[in-house]
Amino acid sequence: MLVVEKYGGSSVATIEKIKDIAAHLAERKKQGDQIVVVASAMGKTTNQLIEESKQVSGKVHPRELDALLALGEGKTVPLLAMAVQDLGVDAISLTGIQIGLKATSRHQRAQIKHIDATRIKRHLDEGKIVVVAGFQGTNDEGDVVTLGRGGSDTSAVALAAILQCPCEIYTDVNGLYSVDPRKYPDAKKLDTASYDLVMEMANQGSKVMEPRSVEIAKKYNVHLYIGQSLYPKPKYGTIVMDNQLALEDKVISGISINENVSMITVRNIPSGGDTTCRIFNLINQYEINVDMINQSIGINNNLVLSFSCNKDDVHLVDKMVKENPGIFAPLTVDKQNDLVKLSLVGVGMASHFGVAARVFNALDKVNVHFYHITTSEITISVTIDAAKLGDAVPVLAAEFNL
Ligand code: ADP
Ligand code: ASP
Ligand code: MG
Repeated sequence: MLVVEKYGGSSVATIEKIKDIAAHLAERKKQGDQIVVVASAMGKTTNQLIEESKQVSGKVHPRELDALLALGEGKTVPLLAMAVQDLGVDAISLTGIQIGLKATSRHQRAQIKHIDATRIKRHLDEGKIVVVAGFQGTNDEGDVVTLGRGGSDTSAVALAAILQCPCEIYTDVNGLYSVDPRKYPDAKKLDTASYDLVMEMANQGSKVMEPRSVEIAKKYNVHLYIGQSLYPKPKYGTIVMDNQLALEDKVISGISINENVSMITVRNIPSGGDTTCRIFNLINQYEINVDMINQSIGINNNLVLSFSCNKDDVHLVDKMVKENPGIFAPLTVDKQNDLVKLSLVGVGMASHFGVAARVFNALDKVNVHFYHITTSEITISVTIDAAKLGDAVPVLAAEFNL
């Protein structure tokens, strides 16, 4: 069978681990499978490269940064291909350019437009294991672009979609858990999960899979497996499947924790004018990624607007406020960085009543205050003080048997 195997940064963090993966690949090849491997940068290499770029320059250099970041994955794949070859199995490493991965031009957040599988197929037919650098491609200019943090997942799933084969995502935990097992060790592993559940959990901060990769998997019906790399048998992680087949009868299946949240509150907005509209036009112009939004009537009938964004985008908020005194000078802008967003996700929620009451009562029992609340058909999110995370998660997990 043909398969795409993807190994994340921690799985290829050391030469020893690369050799262990090579041994597994050689063995699997000998058993008759055709394998495309997508590998990430070793360990924390991507973070280190970002850090080094900051040491060189305080400015943003999107094009050059992508050229730099691509080197992380660029280093892993030849090492892995060499290690496989040394075991007597033919292998070839390919970069994003070499597999013809064409993407949009937006540096650090490019989206895949097209992959030309011709070369990969040729090497597979030659009996080689094809080792592909994840996370990278080129734009129409021919410049290197990267696909956003965690983007090797996206490369892997997109390749599986093109090659019409299953995709196995190997990482440092044995599948998708009800809660990040590093933050809540009693979390339960999900044997199966629907695309929608995994996508929503990923979107809400469970970074085990990059959200867009799950979107592609759903769209192209890619058979997806998430598991621990080189885990001794039985190695059953999580099988991700069609919504109908996943049988998620629980009201809530998981809790996602997003610590990368800042809440911005703008007060004194005159009611009846177009200030809110103008603020959101600016938010759009400054490319600030906004998540929760709330507007209410404050004292003197003025409006209070609050919205959440990634902590990494707060400098853009500061820039926007500073550069637009015409709008912001009469307003008060506050920032809260000490919050986390907890999202309870469950496909079964759509057909159940009373979930919100259970969430709020559980939090109340352990004196956890919640500030902002948003809901969708399958999610209830609340922001709480970061310091209260350790109280909130166990009580919610107990309430919903997670
Ligand atoms: P990789 O480098 O393999 O891509 P990531 O660090 O991107 O790995 O993703 C794996 C991590 O995702 C785990 O170490 C775990 O802490 C985190 N994670 C967050 N939420 C979940 C969850 N619900 N289930 C499993 N892992 C989760
Ligand atoms: N190396 C990239 C990152 O750290 C891509 C990935 O690991 O998926 O974000
Ligand atoms: Mg990842």
